[in-house]
Amino acid sequence: MRPDVLNPLFAETETLEGVGPKLKKPLDRLGLTRLRDLVYHFPERFVTRRAVGTIDEAGQGEQIVVKLLVIEHRGGRNPRAPYRVLAQDSVGNVLSLTYFGRASYTAKKQLPVGESRWVAGKLERYGDMMQIVHPDHVLEEGGDTLQRLCEPVYRLAEGLTQPKVAGLVEQALARAPELPEWCESGQVEREGWPAWREALRRAHGGEDAAARDRLAYDELLANALALMLVRADNRQRKGQPLKGDGSLRDRLALPFPLTGAQTRSIAEIEGDLVQDTPMLRLLQGDVGAGKTVVALAGMLIAVEAGAQAALLAPTEILARQHYESLRRLAEPTGARVALLTGRDKGRARESTLMGLLDGSIDIVIGTHAIFQDKVGYRNLAMVVIDEQHRFGVGQRLMLASKGRTAPHVLAMTATPIPRTLTLAQYGELDVSKLDELPPGRQAIETRVVPLARLDEVAAGVERHLASGQQAYWVCPMVRENENDDTAAAEARYAALKERFGDDVVLVHGQLAPEMKDAAMERFARGDAKLLIATTVIEVGVDVPKATLMVIEQAERFGLAQLHQLRGRVGRGSEKSTCLLLRGDQLSETARDRLALMRETQDGFRLAEEDLRLRGGGELLGTRQSGDSAFQIADLDQITRLLQVAHDDARLLMERDGGLEGKRGAAARVLLYLFERDFGVKTLRGG
Ligand code: ADP
Ligand code: MG
Repeated sequence: MRPDVLNPLFAETETLEGVGPKLKKPLDRLGLTRLRDLVYHFPERFVTRRAVGTIDEAGQGEQIVVKLLVIEHRGGRNPRAPYRVLAQDSVGNVLSLTYFGRASYTAKKQLPVGESRWVAGKLERYGDMMQIVHPDHVLEEGGDTLQRLCEPVYRLAEGLTQPKVAGLVEQALARAPELPEWCESGQVEREGWPAWREALRRAHGGEDAAARDRLAYDELLANALALMLVRADNRQRKGQPLKGDGSLRDRLALPFPLTGAQTRSIAEIEGDLVQDTPMLRLLQGDVGAGKTVVALAGMLIAVEAGAQAALLAPTEILARQHYESLRRLAEPTGARVALLTGRDKGRARESTLMGLLDGSIDIVIGTHAIFQDKVGYRNLAMVVIDEQHRFGVGQRLMLASKGRTAPHVLAMTATPIPRTLTLAQYGELDVSKLDELPPGRQAIETRVVPLARLDEVAAGVERHLASGQQAYWVCPMVRENENDDTAAAEARYAALKERFGDDVVLVHGQLAPEMKDAAMERFARGDAKLLIATTVIEVGVDVPKATLMVIEQAERFGLAQLHQLRGRVGRGSEKSTCLLLRGDQLSETARDRLALMRETQDGFRLAEEDLRLRGGGELLGTRQSGDSAFQIADLDQITRLLQVAHDDARLLMERDGGLEGKRGAAARVLLYLFERDFGVKTLRGG
């Protein structure tokens, strides 16, 4: 049960003054559904304004505070035209205070003709007139107050304004309780960190490295603790020792010899499975490294030992694809493989459920549906989780271990995480690495092309398709929100469809799953030649005849993500090409990053370089796609603070593994605050 002290923080945003259905929508879009989310919605930056006597002193685009005399109101007839208030500074320069839509009502009230006002906002040029659009502040007195004001700038969604968000954050902060200190006291003193509540207040009030570090540290500590708790719990559980006799694996008729790395990984898994402590192993291997076969070998060991195995995929598409390839591979062994997703209904579903219960199905592939309460197994002893990072790690591990004995767990990921970050994402799992690609892979020719040459690129795609091959076209990632990504993809789709007709299919995150699958299937069968997509194709999808990939606005993607995308091609025997389309204004770093993509295909190297080049940037470009394990801590903070948080967590576990003492109780609060409560649930009274 969540500690009572946290209740105010988990209240919905609707309980705040001024939040109704209309405001709730944009808040939800930003993921701000509870007060907790609001207090952690940190400003992206702060503006500080400069007070000027006349607008001649100010540059275009500058944030200023200036005293103005209101001379005239213009507009009001046509509701769609802007409403302009003309005003002049102390030497008679006239500028326009410009309002759109309903904001004009405020203007009428705040700016009576003939009076002076202090106005704060961004000075811009419009035609031959200077203007301030929607001034941030209009005050009768107090130019000085405005000047000293350092204001937060928050990430917004349509329907929200800065003052509105700031007001809500303020309300939420006012309701935030004092929480007990969970950090080690020496650490807090050494770093001069404020207490939790004070840190939040300061993080919204101005640049404050100590406050932000403390709050990031909290998150890292919560994560480290949760992973340790799950790990400790796992060590205490009994697993089912699985000793295979090789009978099924011997019948696998693979068309290729295994690589050394594959053989080694399978042996490591085999070694874990015979133990009576449940396996908790991460299989890390670049795209195309051949993880599927390793997973299959592991699952066959379970089946040889008379048990069942399950493979959990992050999406419907991937579940289907895994099912197809595993069924094909497993065919000669006689192991019975089934698919179960949330979309299976009726008799087919019933019969799968029966098969799992009576043991006539050996291996089930599916989405999270395979762990629903209604799904019973005769003897589920091993679980493979594909693309682990898409799920909360521990959460899945807990889910997987709801049986009497805990199943052995193999987590697979293609995200080449630098060593420093493995610890953060996975805690102390055992790791098997596929660091060797199957032989005969051709390098993917990678070129960087300016967007201005889009026509040439389209012509190139046309020639490519005419030769009977297929291609991917990845649309730009518009940062604001997923809707914008979809809009961009649909626009590109419309344009390319003109050119290529019905050969083109579109896939994006907001399509109904049936539509998405239908489009993917047409492409996989070869009926469609060109697949236009947002980043939903990022993981897993395997179409060997697709040998060309175009990525628009490549500079916006993280290197690791580009690498993952590029890994969709180069899967067959044909030579593959990847075209990275770039905008014309590139920073030096962006240039370097794209050059690196051209240079290497080593995912681990790209990940390390990404870290180096971007410094305190986003975590491997995964933050915007929601894959990062962290919401608060940025990469720089992770690099500086993770190890400390980890040691701190371990010390606490050694002293008070049940989290029963004073600091232990505080740590429980922390775990609930960061919704790592699956960690607490491993404890008595948790
Ligand atoms: P990933 O690690 O990305 O999941 P897959 O398991 O999908 O990679 O394997 C990629 C491709 O490589 C598949 O077509 C698979 O059949 C093939 N493959 C796997 N292992 C080998 C090997 N040892 N030799 C040659 N090809 C292999
Ligand atoms: Mg795979």
